[in-house]
Amino acid sequence: MIKNSPVMRICISCKKTYDRNNLLKITKDHKLGIMLNKGMGRSAYICKSNKCYSDSKIKKKLQKALKSNLDSNFFDIFEKEIANYK
Ligand SMILES: [Zn+2]
Repeated sequence: MIKNSPVMRICISCKKTYDRNNLLKITKDHKLGIMLNKGMGRSAYICKSNKCYSDSKIKKKLQKALKSNLDSNFFDIFEKEIANYK
């Protein structure tokens, strides 16, 4: 029997490891820029816990993880997305 083990990723806020399916993925796509849950390129993950995505330092942590400046347009999209998790 071969078991499919889940892909594990680390939340950039709490540094805990989670199944990738339970994480919000933010990717800096080479062509399309910053994307949520899609795109190819450098990615950061945030777990879907209120403590992490509402972290007051999450913007800085994301920018550091993606080595990129994130504009306010992205955070509008980000905040709409996390509103679904509440
Ligand atoms: Zn977390």
